[in-house]
Order: sequence, then C-alpha cells, then structure tokens
Amino acid sequence: MKTTERRPKQRPRAGEVRLEGQPVSSGVAIGYAAVAHEPAPPPVDMARGDCDPAHERTRLHDAISRSVAQLGRLHDRLALLPEDGQVEIGSLLEVYRRMLGPSRLRRGIEARLEQGMLAEAAVMQETEALAALMLAPPGRPAPQGEDAVAARRRAGEFREIGRRLVRNLSGTPYRSFSALPDGAILVAEQLRPADAALIDPSRIAAVVTEEGGSTGHTAILLRALGIPAVLAAHGLLAQVGRRTRLVVDGATGRVIVRPSSRTAAAARVEVASYARERQMLGRLRRLPARLSSGEVLTLQANLEIPAELPMVAQSGAAGIGLLRSEFLFMNTDTLPDEALQEAIYLPLIEAMAGDPVTIRVVDWGSEKNSDALSRVGIGNGGDANPALAVRGIRLLLQHRALLETQFAAILRAAHAGPVRVLLPMVSLLEELQAAREIYARVGRRLRRRGVKIPDPLPPLGIMIETPAAALMADVLAQEAEFLAIGTNDLTMYTLAADRVATDVAALYDPLHPAVLRLVRMTADAGLRQRRPVSVCGELASDPLAVPLLVGLGVRSFSMHASAVPRVKRAIRAAAMDDCRRMACRALEATDGQEVRAMLAQYAHTLQHPEDG
Ligand code: PEP
Ligand code: MG
Repeated sequence: MKTTERRPKQRPRAGEVRLEGQPVSSGVAIGYAAVAHEPAPPPVDMARGDCDPAHERTRLHDAISRSVAQLGRLHDRLALLPEDGQVEIGSLLEVYRRMLGPSRLRRGIEARLEQGMLAEAAVMQETEALAALMLAPPGRPAPQGEDAVAARRRAGEFREIGRRLVRNLSGTPYRSFSALPDGAILVAEQLRPADAALIDPSRIAAVVTEEGGSTGHTAILLRALGIPAVLAAHGLLAQVGRRTRLVVDGATGRVIVRPSSRTAAAARVEVASYARERQMLGRLRRLPARLSSGEVLTLQANLEIPAELPMVAQSGAAGIGLLRSEFLFMNTDTLPDEALQEAIYLPLIEAMAGDPVTIRVVDWGSEKNSDALSRVGIGNGGDANPALAVRGIRLLLQHRALLETQFAAILRAAHAGPVRVLLPMVSLLEELQAAREIYARVGRRLRRRGVKIPDPLPPLGIMIETPAAALMADVLAQEAEFLAIGTNDLTMYTLAADRVATDVAALYDPLHPAVLRLVRMTADAGLRQRRPVSVCGELASDPLAVPLLVGLGVRSFSMHASAVPRVKRAIRAAAMDDCRRMACRALEATDGQEVRAMLAQYAHTLQHPEDG
C-alpha cells in the first residue's frame, strides 16, 4: 500500500485565494475565520406510509409548541437589534408564527399525516410543495423582477419553518454563536435570518457564507446590523479552516483567503477609511442638501414596504417622495379594503412627523403582478406587450372601485400629516381629468359622511413616465399639482428598451440625451406653471447624475433611503453654474456614454467639505 498517496479530500491550500460572492452589506473587515457548522438532522424515511396518524400528530404539535417558544425567545431579543433589524425580524417572526397557527401549511401537513406519513416527511414535502408553488404558480407566468424576489423570499420562509419543525421533531440542536472569539469573521454554509438575529455585531467583524443571496431576509438583517457581509461565496468552505485569515469586502463581494502581508496591509487601510466614511455619512444626516453655491434642494426617500421606515428616519430624508403602494397587494389573496389601507398609511404619515408623504396609487401591469388582483380578474391578461397595455392609471380607470377605495383611505389618513397623492403612468390629459373627478367625488362623499379630511384636498400629481407625458408636461401641469419624473419607465419607453430584459440592458440608459431632453421639458413646464417637479426613478440615487439633473432644472429628488447621504454629499460639493453648464453639454451630447464621461470628470474635480 502506498503511504504517499494524496488524500482526495480538499484541504485548505496555502497562499492567497480570491473568491467572489454576492455583496450584501458594505464594509471591509480583516480577521480570522470562525466556521459555524450546523449539526444535521438524521435522515428521514420519506417513503413510509404506515405511521400512526394520531402519534405523528402529537409529535407535530409538540414540535410546533417548541418552535413557537423558540420564536418567542427570539422575539424577546428584538430590542437588542437596531431599529430596522427589529422591523425586519419582527415582521418575519410574525410570518412564522402565522404559518405555525391554523394555516394552509399546517392543514397540508396534517392531511399528509392522515396518509400514514412520518411527521418529518410530511413537513418536508408540504413546505417544499408550497415553496415550489410560490416560485412557479401553476397556470401563470413565473414571477419576474420584484415579484420574483418576493416569491423567492416567501419560498425561503416556507423552507425555513419546515427546517425548524424537522429540527424540533428530531431533537437536533441549533448552533450557537456565543462561543465565537471576538473580532472573528463568521463563516458558514448558510445563515438563516433567525441565526443572523442572534449575532452580536459588536463581536463579529464580518459574515461570509457559501450559500444565500443579496435580497433575502438574512441579507436585509445583516445590512441593518451594519455587519460587512458577502453571501454565496462558492468554494468558501473548501478553502477555509479554523483560524484561516480572511479579508472580506462587503461592497464588492470579494473574499480573500489567507491574504499576503501586502494584501492585509491594504485591507487595514480600507478598514480605517471605511470607518471614516461611515462617520462622514453619519454627519451628513444633519446637514442641509445645499449646493456649494447656496441653493437648497429637497431629498426624500422612496418606500417599497413599511419595514423600510426606520431607514428613512436614519437617512435624513425630508419626507417620502414616493410610497409605492403595490406592497398592499402583494403576498395576499384578498384586496385590502379602505379600513386596512387607512390603518397602514396612518402610522407612516405619523412617523414622518410633519414631513410630506407622497402616496402613489397602485401601479399594476407591465412586469408587476398581484395574486389579489388576478384573483378578481384584474391585471395583465397575457398581453403580448404588457408594458404597452393596461397598466397604472389605465388599469385604475377601468377598475374605478379600486381607485376610489385607495383615494378614500388616503384621504381618511391625511389628517395625520401632509400627504400628496400621485397617479402612475399617466400619458393623456383625459386620464388625469378622469382621476381628478373621482378624487373630488370621493372627497365630497367622505365629507357628507362627516369624515374630517383636509380642505382643500391634498395635492394630486402625476408621474411623468412616458414620452407623451413629458412632451405634454406643460398641458398636464395645468391640472396636475406636482410632477414626479419616473426615469425608470421614462427611459424604457423613450429608448424602447425593456427595463428588466438583460439582452437590451446596454440600450437602457437613463443618461441618454433623449431621456435628458424629456426631463428638461418637464422641468421647464413645472417652472412655467409653478408646479414642483421631482425625479423619483433610480437616476435620483446616482450621486454622479444628480448635479446634472439640478442643471436641467430639477430641485427635488426621491431615492432609496440608503442613497440619501451619498447624494447629499455630491450636492454639497457641486455649484449651480457647473450644473447648468453640464446640462447644456449633456443635451447636445450624442449618447449616454459621453454624458457619463463628462459627469465622472466633473465629480473628480469636486472638493467635499465633509470629508476632512
Ligand atoms: C419609475 O418608473 O421611475 C418609477 C419611479 O416607478 P416604478 O419604478 O415603480 O415603475
Ligand atoms: Mg414607473
């Protein structure tokens, strides 16, 4: 027998190795790996069909009670998490608790027990079946874009509760992170949200996992905790042993295993500069969004789901410039009625403490889809070109009860603070007029019933998302009390390039002069008609682009809360004359590349007052 035979088992190799994963939570860390393995539950006999249903039911109910108790203990820890982590995990725990209650999941598992299945097998099959249903709803196209992200999350929730039940059925313990050394980089095959909630961010330098994705609950929670994190770094576990040194860059997704002394020294410089940057962004929160030449702009936040609200407060945003109300219609089988909607808007408006909240009535159609709406026969009916079919205001005017309910709920909540109402996807004056008539009628009806609503009614504005709306902005602005430019859709419709299709991604360029000319027309129309104009598409969160938009005449921007500090930093360094000069050049440019190069060059010359 050869004694020199090489072992096939992969061993951590010597020397520096670079891996790429999904960047999830920015920040650079350097430290030793602490691998947290999870004990695996024993294998389950999936084929058994001769179990005693009564016995298995009792086992299931015990496992459910244990799971509920564990979730209760996690809930007690919530107060230790940062505010946005509390919201994220709090609402997730609520979802889990509902699943463990008298839910469809429980009914499904119990039905399988009646067939003589082992409780573990019934749980695994049922949770997997529900997860598969989320990812590929039968008879409907697979979810796309944001819906696909939501579907993956929901599928993950079913699988997670299934794993918890199986652990409790088999008595397999959970891993604990309390014994990890201070300053360690937590390495794991995967990390579930409930695990992430147990991490003490003051003791863990970073998190890297072999599996996972950037949009799940775990990712959101790690961001809330402010822990640098990279998920889905494939090949990680084969490279890392106990006390292997790592450099983790949560902004780029790079993980360096066994960094050379040069790499380690460079990483230490980055760690220090990241700490300085965080301090600087924190300072910016309290500073005004004022150009170096003195003009003050408005920076607001876009809100997709109420759980993001604490992030808005932390960002220093002056109100909500776009509340996408689509979340009300997601992950639900029933349409939200007036009272439910009011109950959701009210705390959002109150939380903004006098800063305005712009609520956009639901924008369905195109790539977005809703179970609740499909169930009542509303939605994109399989049109060949859904983006050009019935969406946004077109859909709402065809289903007026939907619009009336939403208007009424917003008006009822409007006593709590300043509100604005925004109509999506308007392309014709008559759409705006028809919606305004409904708005006024709903207002009159509420007053007749003695409901206290603002007088005059809150401003009613429109999204400028189609070339038609931008070209007619001067006419529309006579009837709309404010204009919000949605550069995401405006770019798509102007350049005839789908915003979610990867094969035309190179054509989809919001900095193309064709789009910028329409932004200019809209800003001019707003100025002439004295109507506020904002940009609330993704372009507003690009610190390079915002000075150009200022030069085009826009004074108000709404973006994801996390972008507010960086955009403010760019604004505070820019001067109005330069912004205007860039705008003139951009409007004459031949393509987006030329514009981008000009913006990058300008950004390079700027001195940032806060950076010192
Ligand atoms: C836009 O189109 O730019 C916009 C803000 O709306 P949404 O992204 O929700 O379509
Ligand atoms: Mg849009």
